[in-house]
Amino acid sequence: MATEKKKVVVVGGGIAGSAIAYGLQNDADVTLVDPKDYFEVAYAQLRSCVEPTFAERSLILHADYLKKGKVLSASAVSATESELTTDTGEVLPFDFLVITTGTTFSGPKTKVERIKEFEANKKKIVDSESLLIIGGGPVGVELAGEICQDFPKKKVTLVHSGSRLIEFLGPKASEKAQKWLKNKGAEVILNDRVETEELTPPTYATKSGKVITANAHFVAIGKKLGSGWIEASPALKEKLNDEGRLQVGQTLQVAGLTNVFAAGDITDFKEIKQGFLAGKHAAAVVSNIKKLIKNPDEKKLNTYKPLEKPFGLVSLGRQDAVAQLPFATIGGWLPGKLKSKDLFVGQTRASLGLKQK
Ligand SMILES: Cc1cc2nc3c(=O)[nH]c(=O)nc-3n(C[C@H](O)[C@H](O)[C@H](O)COP(=O)(O)OP(=O)(O)OC[C@H]3O[C@@H](n4cnc5c(N)ncnc54)[C@H](O)[C@@H]3O)c2cc1C
Repeated sequence: MATEKKKVVVVGGGIAGSAIAYGLQNDADVTLVDPKDYFEVAYAQLRSCVEPTFAERSLILHADYLKKGKVLSASAVSATESELTTDTGEVLPFDFLVITTGTTFSGPKTKVERIKEFEANKKKIVDSESLLIIGGGPVGVELAGEICQDFPKKKVTLVHSGSRLIEFLGPKASEKAQKWLKNKGAEVILNDRVETEELTPPTYATKSGKVITANAHFVAIGKKLGSGWIEASPALKEKLNDEGRLQVGQTLQVAGLTNVFAAGDITDFKEIKQGFLAGKHAAAVVSNIKKLIKNPDEKKLNTYKPLEKPFGLVSLGRQDAVAQLPFATIGGWLPGKLKSKDLFVGQTRASLGLKQK
C-alpha cells in the first residue's frame, strides 16, 4: 500500500515560494497559498510599464509550473505549528510549513488584470508630457530609467526623501545612477518629499515648499514586509525580530522549530535582500525538506551561508545598469548586459521548467 505523501504548505508565491513549491511537487503533497493566480518576476515590472507585452512572459501563472501541486488563491491570516488558516476560511494541516511572504501583496489578483494595469500605466506615460516619480529606491530609479530610455522627450522629475538614490547599495552606485538619469534629462530632487495622501496633478508641493509641475505621477515607495499575519500567529510571533523578519538558522528552519522553514526577504539573514539570494534559500529548503521526508531524524541538513559582501544590480533602461560588485562598483553597458535586456525573465522561466515563449 502506498504511503500518504507528507503535506507541505508554502505561503507566498514570489521568487522563493514558487521555486520551493516547484521543487517539492514530486516529493510531497504541496499547496501553494498566494492571493494572486500568478508569480511575478519583480524586477520586470518597470519594463512592463513601458512595454506591457513584456508581462506576458514575466507574469507566470502558478498553475503553469505547479502541475502536481495545488494552488490556493488566498492570504494566510495565522498559523499554529501544524495548521495554516487563510482569509478564505480554509484550515490547511501540514507536516512542513514554508514561509516566504517577503512583501505584502496589494494589487490585481489575476494575470489578466495585472496586464491591464500595465497598459493603463503605459497610457498614462504616453498621454503625459511630464511625469513625477515619488521614491528613489530601486522601483523609482528603474521606472525613471525605463521612461527616460523609451520616451526621451518626456520631462521626468524624481523626488526622494533620502540623501542619495538606491540607498540599499553604496554611495558610488547612487552617484552613478543619479548621473545616468541627469544625462538623460531627468531632474532628481533629494532630501525632500511629496506626501502621497493628496496627489493632484498638475502641481505637486514638496515638504520643503518646492512646486513641481507634472501631468501625472507614480508612487514608487517600497512595499511593507509581509509579516503582519505572522504577528497574528502565537506560535510564530515570538520568532520575529524587531524589524519583523523571521529568525532562521542556517538550515532555513525557523528558530526552535523543526517543521517550519522560511526563505527570501522575510528571513533575518544579514545580507541585502535580493531575489537571487531568495533562490539560493529556496534550493536549501527544497533539499532539506526532501531529506526530512525520507528520514525525519536526518541530522545532515544543507546549510546556507549569508552573503557577506553586498552585491546588487539596478537597471537603467534597456542597455545600461549600475552594479555593486564585491570588488568594485561599475555602471554602463557592461553590468547592463547582465540584467537590462531580459531582466532575468528567461532565466527564471527556465528555473521553473517553462519555455521562453
Ligand atoms: C525594482 C526591483 C528590482 C530588483 N532587482 C533585483 C535584481 O536585479 N536582482 C535580485 O536578485 N533582486 C532584485 N530585487 C529584489 C527581489 O525582487 C526580492 O529580493 C525578491 O522578490 C524577494 O523574493 P521573496 O520570494 O522573498 O518575496 P516576494 O517576491 O516579495 O514575494 C512574496 C509573496 O508573498 C505573497 N504574500 C504576501 N503576504 C501573503 C500572505 N499573507 N499570504 C499568502 N501570500 C502572501 C505575495 O503575494 C508574494 O507573492 C529587485 C526588487 C525590486 C522591487
